[in-house]
This record gives sequence, structure tokens and C-alpha cells, in this order.
Amino acid sequence: MTFNDLKLIRNIQQALAEEGYEAPTPIQQQAIPIIMEGTDLVGCAQTGTGKTAAFAIPIIHQIHPIVGSAKKRKSIRALVITPTRELAIQIQESFETYGRYTNIVSTVIYGGVNQVPQVDQLKRGVDVLIATPGRLLDLHKQGHVNLDHLHHLVLDEADLMLDMGFINDVKKIIKLTPDNRQTLLFSATMPLPIRELAESFLTKPQYVTVTPVASTAEKIKQWVYKVEKEEKRKLLLQILNEYPGEQILIFTRTKHGADNVVKFLKKNNFTAEAIHGDKSQSARQRALDHFKNKEVQLLAATDIAARGIDIESLPFVINFDIPNISDTYVHRIGRTGRAGNEGLAISLCGKDEWTYWQDIEKLIRMKIKVIENHDFGWKDTANQAPAVKVDGTPQKKDFRNKKKGNGGKKFFGNKNKKK
Ligand code: AMP
Repeated sequence: MTFNDLKLIRNIQQALAEEGYEAPTPIQQQAIPIIMEGTDLVGCAQTGTGKTAAFAIPIIHQIHPIVGSAKKRKSIRALVITPTRELAIQIQESFETYGRYTNIVSTVIYGGVNQVPQVDQLKRGVDVLIATPGRLLDLHKQGHVNLDHLHHLVLDEADLMLDMGFINDVKKIIKLTPDNRQTLLFSATMPLPIRELAESFLTKPQYVTVTPVASTAEKIKQWVYKVEKEEKRKLLLQILNEYPGEQILIFTRTKHGADNVVKFLKKNNFTAEAIHGDKSQSARQRALDHFKNKEVQLLAATDIAARGIDIESLPFVINFDIPNISDTYVHRIGRTGRAGNEGLAISLCGKDEWTYWQDIEKLIRMKIKVIENHDFGWKDTANQAPAVKVDGTPQKKDFRNKKKGNGGKKFFGNKNKKK
């Protein structure tokens, strides 16, 4: 299938050609015709599948004739609700890109920043509004947002909105929109509350599903290092030295962990920044921009902050911690290997995290290559002399210089060491 077969207006086709999009992705092939028919849709798809274009393209196609000339008075025709500011910004960029040969005006509103510029934008007139739930309700309450003329409502990353506690806000927002709207709901997973949301607020929706969790994982090269917890930083340095200058997204489970990794990397002369929930919106955006424009080589991120980050052809992620929720692993490695690009995901697994790792392998239905023959591998406790002799007296410590388990051989060379 080509974009031509979807009978899109030429204005969009031209923008897509300039973006170098040759063919619609599977979610686009399935979702675009359904949305263009005016049918409600539930899309089970995660970031990296092309799902933003799957809703942005048909929305632009449909509202382009209504929007008409640049001079015509504007009202909000499409509203996209998404959980994080980063996602909201990226979605707006997509509307700008695909709609660049139309008169459609889009804007983005999110919390944590001064509302005045956002209100000014709304006053100037907007066709497509992309918003995080809290700020939208806030500006609606203040009378700055009128949703009476809405055609399309998109609920993006619905499961993440649920996880982040936005579901009641989402329900409130839906109730502010006209009953005859077209509703599109996208979610990476379909837990019961999301299915219930779809059943109560969508009208006879069609369901489309792409990338069952396993298939995303298949196009990404994955390795797991068994590593002593205390040695993870040293191993991280070795890996980074093995890939000089490579831009890498490093995941940590906690905000504190992200800050610590960054501190350690900076001390070792790498450029690194962290993004997580404790950073102000502008600091997060700045860090992301620095990473995108390659001023910074390494970005450490927690899961919520990183979800939805769209960095073109990011080749490499490192899981500094193993997530205790297996789905999270799939989201993390979904940052790499996008739209056909090859990706590499390296996980550093402590002994205490091995059960999480086994759950992940079960979920993705794959056995991942394990690397244990390196300087910082798990100590083989099974072959160590017992601390206490069988007769109960303490074992004398052996101070002789023992050969390392791997024969002292370094797994990585130091040839590329940074100065
Ligand atoms: P998304 O799933 O919306 O986060 O999109 C993931 C990435 O795929 C983005 O960088 C898009 O620019 C890119 N993309 C979306 N659709 C296509 C397509 N049909 N061909 C090539 N790249 C695409």
C-alpha cells in the first residue's frame, strides 16, 4: 500500500514525500481508512509504530476543507489529549509537519509553565489543540477554551494517562465535548479501565492492533550483562568507551538513580543530562533539545519522563536498571529501532534483578544473549570456599593473588578511552 492509495489530499502527500515517508506503517494502513470514514477507533499501538501520523494525517485531511482560507475565523476542530508535555510537543510538531501545506493552525498547552503565551495563542485562533489534561481543564474553566465546534477527540497513550492518575480528568474533558464528535483512543496496552473507557465514550469503535509486544523486540539487537550491582557504573564506562561518541539513552528506575548516573558520567568527562519528574519542564525540554541536537552525548531518563520521547533513529539504549514491570522494558527498547532502523538495547542486570529479567523474557517470548564473561560479572558463589569450615571454625581468608574467573581477560578493549 502507498499513501496514494489512501486518497489523501495533495497538500498532505507533498509534506509526506518531503519527510521521506515512502509507505504507510501497519497502524497507518489500518487506522487511516477507518478514521477517514468517520468511524470511532481504538488503536492498540505503542510509540514508534507511526501512531501519531495514523491520527494526525486523517484529521488534517478531514478538517482542511472546513478550515479553508487563512483568514477564516478559527475554532477548535480537533483536540488531542496526551499525558506528558514532551508527547504533547511532539504531537504538535507532527501536525505542523504533515499540515505544512494547509492553513491549519495547531497549538500545544501543558502545565508547569506560564499560561499567558498559551492563552494568547488560543485567543489568536486554533484549529487543532494538543493538551495535557490538567492545563486543559484549567484553561477551560477560565473560559479560554471552547470545545463546542469539536469534530475529533484523540485520547493518546490512554494507559499511561491511567497510570499517571489522569483518568478522571480525561472523563471530565470528554464530557465537555459535543456528542457527535469522532473519538480515537490509542493505548499501548488495554487494561480493563481503558476498555471500559472505550466502551462508555466511543460509539461502535473499530479496534486495530499492531505490534504485539513481542514483535517490537524482534528488530532490536538485545544483550543482557550479568553484573554485580556495585560494578554497574564501571561496566557502563567500559561499554561507553567501546562506542565512542555514540548517543545513548540510559534508563534508570528512579530519579535519584538518573541524577547519580549523570554525576558519575560527568566526573568521567562525558556530556550527560538527566530528565525526570523532579526537573522543571523547561529543564527537561532543554536537556532533550541538547540531546537531540547532539550537544550532549548521553541522556539519563526515568520511565515516565522518557515515554514517548521521539528521537529520530536513536540507535542505542542502555537499561542501567531492569524494570520490575516487564511492559516497561518493551517501552524502553521501543525508543530504538524505530521505523525500520536497527537498534541496540543493552541491559545491566544485577543478581537481585534476575527474576525481573526472566519475566521480561517470558513477555517478549525471546531468550536474550547473556554476557557474563567480563570483568564485572556476578561472583560465582557456588564455587567459593564456605566462610565457615564444616567443623564450625571460621575459614582463613585467602590473600593469595587469584586469577580472575575469566582468566583476567578484559571483555572490552580500552583503545577508545576518553581523555
Ligand atoms: P510515533 O509512533 O508516532 O511516535 O512515530 C515514530 C516515528 O516514525 C516518528 O519519528 C515518525 O516521524 C516516523 N514515521 C511515522 N510514519 C512513518 C512512515 N510512514 N514512514 C517513515 N517514518 C514514519
